[in-house]
Amino acid sequence: MKKCTGPCGQLKPISEFTIDRKNKDGFSHQCKVCKRKGNQLSKRKRNQLNGHVRIIKTLEILGQPHTEKEARGLIQEIKRSLTNFQEN
Ligand SMILES: [Zn+2]
Repeated sequence: MKKCTGPCGQLKPISEFTIDRKNKDGFSHQCKVCKRKGNQLSKRKRNQLNGHVRIIKTLEILGQPHTEKEARGLIQEIKRSLTNFQEN
């Protein structure tokens, strides 16, 4: 048995942990369930980050708008990005 350091914090059989050679006992600190949750979270974070990057890039372009029409298009793009970001 091994105690999970993840959100569940439960004592679980070693079969519930993934192999991780970096650790002394050769098994991951977090159980499979928590690991999977962690991966989902990082994927979500990555999506949020992508949203941020998109907004920043758009703002950078917006700093030098060529035409009013173009600027309006970019503002729409930011609004869309923000909506997507909130949905995540
Ligand atoms: Zn766990």
